[in-house]
Amino acid sequence: LSAPLNAPRGTQDVLGEEAIARAALEQRARKLLESCGYERIETPAFEATELFARGVGESTDVVQKQMYSFQDGGGRSLTLRPEGTAPICRAYLEHGMSRRPQPVKLWYLSSFFRYERAQAGRYRQFWQVGAEAIGSDDPAVDAELILLLAELLDELAVSDSRLRISSLGTHATRAAYRERLTAHLRAHEQELSSDVRERIELNPLRAFDSDHAGTRAAMASAPKLLDALDDVDREHFAGVRTLLDDAGLAYDVDHTLVRGLDYYTRTVFEYESPALGAQRGVGGGGRYDGLIAQLGGPETPGCGWAAGVERLLLAGDAPPLAPPPVDLFIGYGDPARERAAFGLARDARRAGLNAQLELAGRSLKGQLKHADRLGAQILALLEDEGTAIRDMHSGEQVSVVDEAALAEILRRRR
Ligand code: AMP
Repeated sequence: LSAPLNAPRGTQDVLGEEAIARAALEQRARKLLESCGYERIETPAFEATELFARGVGESTDVVQKQMYSFQDGGGRSLTLRPEGTAPICRAYLEHGMSRRPQPVKLWYLSSFFRYERAQAGRYRQFWQVGAEAIGSDDPAVDAELILLLAELLDELAVSDSRLRISSLGTHATRAAYRERLTAHLRAHEQELSSDVRERIELNPLRAFDSDHAGTRAAMASAPKLLDALDDVDREHFAGVRTLLDDAGLAYDVDHTLVRGLDYYTRTVFEYESPALGAQRGVGGGGRYDGLIAQLGGPETPGCGWAAGVERLLLAGDAPPLAPPPVDLFIGYGDPARERAAFGLARDARRAGLNAQLELAGRSLKGQLKHADRLGAQILALLEDEGTAIRDMHSGEQVSVVDEAALAEILRRRR
């Protein structure tokens, strides 16, 4: 016999308390986001590989190293979605959502796939809750989204989180800035770490992320993107900040904040939690005004964020929502009563009770224990003389002979 198989590295089974905690998170996220007009969206688990190559950017780690891509039976190149924004923008275009009142506000809770080094808080299949608002470049959209994520963190009792924000400007500003930064990096090539040096052309902004001492020293005198913004973008960023200030939300402006995906323009932000250790990013996002055009649509602004469900649960301390109580457990001594018990369970459920019945042929004693373990309020025991109803809390027992009396008791219990 061969050895039993385990779940693939970087994946997990979600069960027991973890499943209950996730359901509670979903419930809290839905309540918050839908109260602000965000509609649920589901997109396919896989998309054309080209969507991510074009949307997320050829030079990003995600596209270069982390995609689960495969050919299907028809020879198409498909990729398990590594992120949610590009698919949602595709759906926005595909379904003509630009004809709806703008911005179109959408939210999701789905799983994503990245081939990354698995470690605590980093998985190869992980879940994200996310929100996108497409079709308006008003700074209030950015501020609303940033505040919504703050509220979600609050709801989930993620304390001590730190918010960093910045603005990347437009793609044009960034391109010009990139040249200046590249020139600066070239002038300091000898001081840089080898991986930063190798990526000068590909992704010079990443140099700000480095922990390498020489690189950090060289970056201290590097030109800053925030200083290079044009007037319109500077004003846009100021507009976002004013609204955050009005709301009393604390944040740090961090000109080195870069995000892993290419589509960002203008506002970017990230929430970190010190409770998380090395993988401390709980959630982040920003504006992506060029993405829809990049995907072949008309110029359409957009903004959004995603937060990792596993990390939210790790960093958060929200009490789990109580599982639904078991109103009624139906047991029986004689196996011949199983049919009657089955029928009674159906009746009780139709009447709106959470009912369960004995399904494993336990002894009467075993059934009592099981009803107790489930936390059942009432035990109904089908016996030859009729049905005995026992209040599991008081231990009080009433014998019932006919169905009508039983129905009456169940009704009173509701
Ligand atoms: P990103 O899409 O990279 O901006 O990620 C947004 C959020 O998703 C991060 O802040 C994390 O909370 C979460 N996340 C990203 N990658 C992973 C991963 N491999 N495993 C678990 N969570 C992740």
